[in-house]
Amino acid sequence: MQEHEKAPALAAIAAGTTIGSVLRNSPLDPVDLRILVGHALRLSRIQLITRSELALTANEAEALRAALHRRIQGEPVAYITGEREFYGLAFAVTPDVLIPRPETELLVELALERLQPGSRVLDLGTGSGAIPVALAHARPDLDVTAVDISKAALAVAERNARRHHANIAFAHSDWYSALPGRTFDMIVANPPYIVKGDRHLSEGDLRFEPVDALTDHADGLSALRNIINGATRHLSSDGWLLMEHGYDQAEAVRSLLSAQGFSAVRSWTDLAGIERISGGRIVNPFA
Ligand code: GLN
Repeated sequence: MQEHEKAPALAAIAAGTTIGSVLRNSPLDPVDLRILVGHALRLSRIQLITRSELALTANEAEALRAALHRRIQGEPVAYITGEREFYGLAFAVTPDVLIPRPETELLVELALERLQPGSRVLDLGTGSGAIPVALAHARPDLDVTAVDISKAALAVAERNARRHHANIAFAHSDWYSALPGRTFDMIVANPPYIVKGDRHLSEGDLRFEPVDALTDHADGLSALRNIINGATRHLSSDGWLLMEHGYDQAEAVRSLLSAQGFSAVRSWTDLAGIERISGGRIVNPFA
């Protein structure tokens, strides 16, 4: 549907319009619509059903029109509500951070399966902090460090850590730059991996996300390469490196890992059956 065709539905939302009629008469995706109506009117999903005959006040109608207008202009729902769920937890998100994706939950699961009690784990390019907060929340015994090159992103991540009582050491760092001599039992990362100029960067929700979190402005592998090369100096013996990457990058990432001496190199498929996470272990990195 074209944007001008969606406009009349918005104009019809006024004082006296019922919630039920808004939900029935909008061209927006029904899931997006329910989230946005609930957010604008501060109602739960259940209340949207039980109070469907409730008539909007003029202020409510205006707040709702504003939220729906932003979505129609293309803005992601999570930036409008300021929130997204990840690994069962609610995360604050702003346009300074990538919106957490369900694929990344696989990275959290794979990490949790491999982390011994008290392990030191590092998240590179933490963004909203979704990965380290999910790890620390599930396993308070872990010693979690998270870094980002963006101070604005770190502020969002710190907020999310406080919100979920996750004990995380944050640092402002360009990959490993602020961590000289530090070693970890595991390194995880969901780095920018989209190839420069990929058409997806100028389509849909991605247009609103921080471009430096999406693309390396190069071949899509440069951040992954930096992370893999640096990991040989920052992992303890038998330490794991696990990274999310693009749908067509698994083979290249496995080659990079093998070339740096990683063992047990493999990839894991996401729910869509796409090889989405690759990793390996470093044995005796300093030998
Ligand atoms: N998975 C994201 C996307 O393709 C990209 C995330 C990233 O670059 N790390 O929309």
